[in-house]
Amino acid sequence: MGGTINDEALVGELRALYARIDAHYADWTCPSSTECCRFGVTGRQPYVTSIEIAMVERAIARRGGMPSAKKHALPLTNDPRRERICPLLNRDNRCSIYADRPFGCRTFFCDRATQGEGPTRAVLQEHVNELRALAERHKLGGDAPRPLMRVLGRE
Ligand code: SF4
Repeated sequence: MGGTINDEALVGELRALYARIDAHYADWTCPSSTECCRFGVTGRQPYVTSIEIAMVERAIARRGGMPSAKKHALPLTNDPRRERICPLLNRDNRCSIYADRPFGCRTFFCDRATQGEGPTRAVLQEHVNELRALAERHKLGGDAPRPLMRVLGRE
């Protein structure tokens, strides 16, 4: 992963943005299937900007590092490599950095989630734009979102 940039104010702004995003999903429930953290199952993974990476790095540092291999989530099938499990998903099938998880993890809902109203596309796009603006301030000159697994050194 890249180095941590010391700008608490921007991380604070991101936290406030996440709180606004989470509020849209307050009445949604999740069956905790953990499929969304198994990128080989969904065929998708979150792409993260520099400011999101900064928050993830802080969260990993606070918990004393990545979950050890022994504490990783177990595969659902007998082919763990195909599941491509996020290394931050722990053996209890919980995200080990839940409060600091990236935007894509907050807004991905599988078909099995009980759906409340949720944000409109336009509102979600506004939040995406806010996130991009934050990332540009965090990394001057622009910021290209990168796949989470690559950021975590897993591909
Ligand atoms: S960061 Fe957390 S919520 Fe996001 S994919 Fe990994 S384990 Fe799942």
